[in-house]
Formats: sequence, structure tokens, C-alpha cells
Amino acid sequence: MTYDYLIVGAGFAGCVLAERLASQLGKRVLLIDRRPHIGGNAYDEYDEEGILVHRYGPHVFHTNDRRVFRYLSRFTSWRPYVHKARSFVEGRLVPIPINRETVNVLFGFGLSTDEEVECFFRREREHRATRENSEDVVVAAVGRRLFDLLYRGYSLKQWGLEPRDLAPSVCGRLPVRTGLLDRYFDDAIQAIPREGYTAMFARMIDHPRIHLSLATAWSEINSGSFDRLIFTGPIDEFFGELHGKLPYRSLRFEYETHDCEFLQPVAMITYPNTFPFTRTTEFKHITGQVHPKTTIAKEYPLETGEPFYPIPRREYVEQYRLYRREAKKLATVRFVGRLATYQYYNMIRLPRNASWCSKRSRGEGPHEGRSSARLGGDTDLEPSGPVAEDFDGVRAVNLSPSGGHRYR
Ligand SMILES: Cc1cc2nc3c(=O)[nH]c(=O)nc-3n(C[C@H](O)[C@H](O)[C@H](O)COP(=O)(O)OP(=O)(O)OC[C@H]3O[C@@H](n4cnc5c(N)ncnc54)[C@H](O)[C@@H]3O)c2cc1C
Repeated sequence: MTYDYLIVGAGFAGCVLAERLASQLGKRVLLIDRRPHIGGNAYDEYDEEGILVHRYGPHVFHTNDRRVFRYLSRFTSWRPYVHKARSFVEGRLVPIPINRETVNVLFGFGLSTDEEVECFFRREREHRATRENSEDVVVAAVGRRLFDLLYRGYSLKQWGLEPRDLAPSVCGRLPVRTGLLDRYFDDAIQAIPREGYTAMFARMIDHPRIHLSLATAWSEINSGSFDRLIFTGPIDEFFGELHGKLPYRSLRFEYETHDCEFLQPVAMITYPNTFPFTRTTEFKHITGQVHPKTTIAKEYPLETGEPFYPIPRREYVEQYRLYRREAKKLATVRFVGRLATYQYYNMIRLPRNASWCSKRSRGEGPHEGRSSARLGGDTDLEPSGPVAEDFDGVRAVNLSPSGGHRYR
């Protein structure tokens, strides 16, 4: 059997593209993943105790883009969920992102207004003429003491790097608040697929023109069996590390089930200065599942292993650009998603930015290359940034470093 498209990677990017190509353009798609499951890093499943867990770290869907939300709502109903986190610092749990309570607890103050907190930040701030790296961003916003207590140790564990060696966007993505608001994300829409991410992806790719093959690596596929290729795996791997191996950070997850309904006050606790793990997640807070026991996951950052996070440093971005140049030479291959574009971004950017295909083109007849992006059947979705790729109705935008994606 031959296919119009081979899509390598059944993660968020691969599943959305497969669905769009099959349902909107009538294409026959072979969707493969080397893992034995769909969903990529957003994959969730029930553990041995019957508790729904996210196998590759907590995934919270958050966006201000109602069109993307409407599109995904075709495949799932939602559980509204406002993500909250605490940081374990000097034996106490304080809100993260920093807010008034964080400051009061850590410094023993009784600040009661936004102005008082802002005044405290003003006293603490260090002058920086430019914000070249993550340390600049934080010390210029809240000063060195909060930087040392909440950011530095976390960054050293998570990235194996000092914040001054990381792009400004890494630590800069967390807001700083003067009030008592303690939600992790600012986005208006925050939710979890009611039956989980895996169930949502399963519905998305349940289409007669999509053929799924799991536990199948791209290297196993015969090149004669498809016309075009969409690759969502690591771009350096695709080119046989022609320009050297791109560095990624990896993670190891350790799960514990406890004989109590809840162990933590909130879903996520970060450990910037103590313990070898960076954070713990208690999934029932996120999923809303009712169960007499609870499962948490501890995350241990690793230098090697399965690629999770592209490392946001200028020299690696330069190295990635060498691969992008190679990619542009290939007329029938496109690189989409987090690993293929060596970008640090969240789930929402995939449906919104990576690709949209539509049967209804913009007055150019059936020419797919000019297809507009159509999400809900009633709304065009134009990419919000400059178009970087344009391929057979699949459009991808440049991912600007200023994108406000805030998680970790
Ligand atoms: C710990 C963690 C927490 C996160 N939390 C959030 C969050 O709360 N909210 C949020 O919006 N985003 C979050 N994200 C980001 C989110 O996971 C990604 O944006 C999204 O999963 C990226 O989808 P993708 O399809 O590009 O890549 P992936 O999900 O990585 O999927 C790529 C797939 O390609 C497969 N693949 C790779 N190479 C090959 C090959 N050669 N052959 C076959 N298959 C291959 C892989 O097995 C993988 O399944 C988090 C990420 C991590 C790591």
C-alpha cells in the first residue's frame, strides 16, 4: 500500500497533521511512532492502581486561543482545571510563580498591598542595561535573594547550567506577581481532556484514511511507500547528525503510590535547592479522579536519554540552523513539532502554529499549497507569526523567542 504522507511521530504535532490531512485534504496517511503508544509526551494512561498518570510529566492545556480550543473540543470534552504549584524552600512551601505570599513567607513580612510588594521588588532589583540571559531577567525583576532561593538551584538541576548560560526566555516565562493570585498560568482557558490526552488523540486519528503503526521507527519504513514525509522527531537524527548532535535534556520519572487520598496541597511542588529531583506531581489534582489512593511522580533531569527539552542556548540554535538549511533543500519533507524545529514550546503552539490544512483554499482552486487554515469549520486560523514553511497546505510559523509559554 502506498500513502500520500508518511508522518513520523504520533505526538501532538503528528496526530493533528494526520487528522487535518485525512479529513480536510482527503490524503492517505501512514502515521508511525517508535513508542508503543500515541500522544508523544502528552501520553497518559492508568497505572497499576488504576490512577490516571501522565507518563512524560504533567501536561496542562492552557491557551487564550478559543479557535484551537474549539478544534480540540471535537475530540474531547474538558475538565476545567486551574494549575497551581508550590516551591519547597527552606522547609516551607511557598507559591510559585512568586506572589505576595511568597515574599511574606520567605522574608517574614506582613506586606498587605500590591504597592508594598512592588516597593520591596524595587529595593531588591539589580540594574541591568540589557537582558542577555535568564539571570539578568530575574535579578532585574526581583533581585538576587529571590533568584538564589527560587531560580538558581532549579536551573542548575534542570539544565545542568547556570541561569546566566540560558536564554532569557527560560526563567523569564514565569510571571512575577504583587498580589495573592496563585495560578501557575495566566491563560483564560485552562483545562484537561476529561478522559485524558490519549483518548483525545485516539479520537482525532480515528479516520479510515489514517493508518497507525506503533513501535515502528522511521528507519524501518520503505521509502517507496509514501509520496511526502512529515518528520516530528529530532532533526539532527534525521540527518544522521551531519552537523553534530544537538543537545537535549532528558528526564527520568519515578512513580510512588500512597495510601491516602491526597499527599500534596497542589498538583506540583518544585524543589529548587533540596533533593536530586526537580519537582513532584500529584496527578489526581489535575485529572480530578476520585480514588482512595494517590500517585505522584518525581522528575530527575538527565543529561542523556530520550530527548525531552531542546536546550535554549544561542550556540545550539546556531547549530540547529545548519540543519534547517539542509531541511529547506528537501522538497518533499517537512519538519514540524518540538524536536524537529528544536524549539521549546507548549502544546497549544502545535495546533495553532505548526499546521493547518483545509479543503477550502483561498480562491486558488484545488492548489493545496495555498490552503488556508481552518479549524472549527467556521473560522480561518491564520498563523500569528511570519510564515517559515509552506508546504502542500501545511503552514508553519516562525517561533519567536518572545512567545509567552510558561511551564516546566
Ligand atoms: C515534562 C514535560 C512537561 C510538559 N508540560 C506541558 C504542559 O503542561 N503544557 C503544555 O502545553 N505543554 C507541555 N509540554 C510540551 C509538550 O509535551 C509538547 O509541546 C508536545 O508534546 C510536543 O508535541 P510533538 O508532537 O512536537 O512532540 P512529541 O510529543 O515529542 O512527539 C514526537 C513523537 O515522535 C516520535 N519519534 C521521534 N523520532 C522518531 C523516529 N525516528 N521514528 C518514529 N517515531 C519517532 C517520538 O516517539 C514521539 O512520540 C511538556 C513537555 C515536557 C517534556
